Amino acid sequence: MTMDTRLCVGCQACVLSCKAENDLPEQGFRDWVVSETRGVFPTLYQENRSERCNHCEHPPCVAACPTGASHVAEGGAVLVTHYKCSGCKACIAACPYNARYVHSEGYIDKCTFCLHRVEKGQKPGCVDICPTSALQFGDLSDPDSTVSKLLRSRKYKVLKPELGLEPHLFFLL
Ligand code: SF4
Ligand code: SF4
Repeated sequence: MTMDTRLCVGCQACVLSCKAENDLPEQGFRDWVVSETRGVFPTLYQENRSERCNHCEHPPCVAACPTGASHVAEGGAVLVTHYKCSGCKACIAACPYNARYVHSEGYIDKCTFCLHRVEKGQKPGCVDICPTSALQFGDLSDPDSTVSKLLRSRKYKVLKPELGLEPHLFFLL
């Protein structure tokens, strides 16, 4: 997934779309928006980032899970099998991005990249709703995909790169 910090206006439509699409409890969020002031006075600008699980290439949450509930699905998405989750919170402690929360039904929940939609040929809910097309989703192994082209043509960053987890959420600059 790519997230264009130049296009994001911080409207939170992605957050509301996710809650509705995934029927999340009132206190549960799979994505959120961070707004930071950047630059040097008087030349300041605001960077908005729609953040979620980074679906890390080397996910410490999966390594920490004692039941196998947290796993890497075919295609690379990191998922939680709810019925296998004991709610021990080891994955929450292991995730440096604070991307997981305790669902009101006791299991740990997080972004799934809306795989239930992707499998039907649809975009994730947040990507679909974004009014500025700041979010894009696709196959990084396909050089002709929108995300591959964006990562070739734009500067980008990932969060906490020093941890070496190889996040799959890329913030275009
Ligand atoms: Fe930013 Fe798009 Fe989310 Fe609005 S819907 S906050 S513009 S990413
Ligand atoms: Fe796991 Fe956190 Fe990485 Fe998501 S962002 S794969 S929950 S470590």
